[in-house]
Amino acid sequence: MNPTPPASCQLAGSGAIIKFIDMNARNEKYILNVKINGISRKEVLDDIKIFLLSGSQHYIVTLNPEMVVEAQKNPHFKDVINRADRSIADGIGIIFANKFLNDDSLPQRIGGIDLMLAICASDFIKNKKIYLLGAGKGIAEKTAKVLRNKYPNVNIVGAGEGIPAQITNDKLQMTNKFTVSNTQHIISSKKTEYNRLNNELIHRINDAKPDVLFVAFGAPKQEMWIYENIKKIPSIRLAIGVGGSFDFISGKIKRAPRIMQKFGLEWLWRLIQEPKRINRICNATVKFSWLVLRSKIQKIVITSRP
Ligand code: UDP
Repeated sequence: MNPTPPASCQLAGSGAIIKFIDMNARNEKYILNVKINGISRKEVLDDIKIFLLSGSQHYIVTLNPEMVVEAQKNPHFKDVINRADRSIADGIGIIFANKFLNDDSLPQRIGGIDLMLAICASDFIKNKKIYLLGAGKGIAEKTAKVLRNKYPNVNIVGAGEGIPAQITNDKLQMTNKFTVSNTQHIISSKKTEYNRLNNELIHRINDAKPDVLFVAFGAPKQEMWIYENIKKIPSIRLAIGVGGSFDFISGKIKRAPRIMQKFGLEWLWRLIQEPKRINRICNATVKFSWLVLRSKIQKIVITSRP
């Protein structure tokens, strides 16, 4: 976890030193004060290879416009994103906003699901243990089956649901209240229930000793959960929040046709499949666009002042 990632790293057994990479910075940009790393898919995979060989823990955030909007009203979530070892652009809106507010430095969109599959397909994942956490009943297990069949290098040592959504929602609300006021200690039966279930979950994951943890709770739950719990699972070298990826990989939801993926229209496909996402999509498109435009106007006003 930032701010102490290794500057460079020795490849185990090979004696070769991986060429120096500025592991802290990696072309950091900010959109509405939320971090994004302008790196290519290959560079992310190179970094992950190093993370997995290191002795420290890392997490990657796959950023979309909805998360940037959420971060404006949830300072704890913003902090969690900004402390991530890598924040990569999972959403065409992020690429456009960076172009508009900063520069051309985001080379491409890297979807959470694509990153997950690229890791599973890589050579460096050989001998590493993977744990799949989240999604609905039986979905993580189905995802594990699909991945095992498709990628001979993957070693999935555990898969299962997280904590029921309602209990996590209550916990999340309590965390936000606590962060904002910083004074209230909310002790309730809900919190106790959450802690009990979470301890069981951590215990289950620790038994499997995974190196890589994919968490599919949706944002911001997954990122906040990773941030709060990664230290309790010392074997983890890399954790990534992958949103609805298990639903797609398991076949529960059909993924957008390639042409839509190519043009960054996966959000539209998901809206067609799940019309109840309309509020979330509005947040991601209308609200995000407005906030970006307002930020640009503010920048122009400030720089044009004598
Ligand atoms: N999910 C979960 N726990 C929760 C809320 C959601 O495991 O408390 C799962 C849900 O079943 C789905 C996944 O999180 O499989 C992603 O949810 P969503 O579609 O909201 O995420 P997105 O892909 O939009 O980030």
